Amino acid sequence: DQPLPHSASGEVTAETDLSALAPPSRPARRWTPKRVVVTPAALDEEHGRRIVERVEALGIEVERLKANRLTGVRGETDRETYARAKSTLAVVVSPPSRRTLQPIAPSADWRVDLAEGCPAHCQYCYLAGSLSGPPVTRVYADLDGILAGLTDYVGTGTVTSRSRARSAEGTTFEASCYTDPLALDHLTGSWQRAVEHFGAWDAPVQLRWTTKYGDVDRFVDLPHAGRTRVRFSVNCLPVTRRWEGGTSTLEQRLAALRRLASAGYPVGLTIAPIMPLDGWREHYGHLLDLVEAAVAEVPDLDLTAELITHRFTASSKEVLLGWYPRTTLEMDEARRSVKRGRFGTSKHVYPKEVMGELRRWFEDQLAQRLPQCRVLYWT
Ligand code: SF4
Repeated sequence: DQPLPHSASGEVTAETDLSALAPPSRPARRWTPKRVVVTPAALDEEHGRRIVERVEALGIEVERLKANRLTGVRGETDRETYARAKSTLAVVVSPPSRRTLQPIAPSADWRVDLAEGCPAHCQYCYLAGSLSGPPVTRVYADLDGILAGLTDYVGTGTVTSRSRARSAEGTTFEASCYTDPLALDHLTGSWQRAVEHFGAWDAPVQLRWTTKYGDVDRFVDLPHAGRTRVRFSVNCLPVTRRWEGGTSTLEQRLAALRRLASAGYPVGLTIAPIMPLDGWREHYGHLLDLVEAAVAEVPDLDLTAELITHRFTASSKEVLLGWYPRTTLEMDEARRSVKRGRFGTSKHVYPKEVMGELRRWFEDQLAQRLPQCRVLYWT
């Protein structure tokens, strides 16, 4: 059990106090954007008008743009642009290209986008390098058309994501690729409607999303019919406290997981990004203690786990260092192996022996501590 050589810097202290799982003393975090804008095209959509009504009912002013182009986001410096963009919500119509769904193995058969962007400040954010331009959060007003268009994809899927463990779930649609649903749903209601849409759908389908927020009040009593799997993105306390700004706390996420599981939702853990910090076994062991306590005695628990190690690309590193110039997050090419993907892309991942050690540990620990949990993939 040797310490791994690729540790992130910084001292961390393990906390083993399970009282963290008492009902959170603070309500789950809710984002209040500083500026909300809506385009004319979005106002032509019924759901666009619903979002405006909802936002105004929360006492937030909505600026009606004259054209369908978003302006006024760039500041004098990159920092200012980042800060302005991250505090702006734009209600827009989705780009036409988004209506043709893309495969998204291994997490699901198809990717469906109800929004793009996220108000949180994770210093490893996987959106960096994937999305271009200032990181404004855009929510889509043409939700009804987006959901109606999914019918064409039922019964289709990417073979790699249709493992035996998941075939009972039917065609799966991932709705959190470029956003965090529970960071935004109180402003849009989009994911609530999606849950109801899937719940009423007479076909073998599943909606899936992952979140770092715990704001689930509005979901508990929805007629979900077991067709939405909500996964909570979790990490050990040193990672979550140090590098996940603006998100709900770990205990809020786990309390939310318990509430949804108790309401009959299939649930999941997205343990990501896994990092071999100093003392990682102890820290991730503590995380699994908290998960065990969170799911204890939940009847008919349907729990999955997706295990994703930290990685970065040249472009994500550049963007992240622009956003978080003083970050202590390790993004050192010399400590990583290069993994080449399709289309000539390359990612910096942990070396093979580190990956092997992490993987063995997680799979063993999950099998021992949470035998009912199905591990869907490791990457
Ligand atoms: Fe990025 Fe997800 Fe964090 Fe949002 S919650 S900043 S999408 S990693």
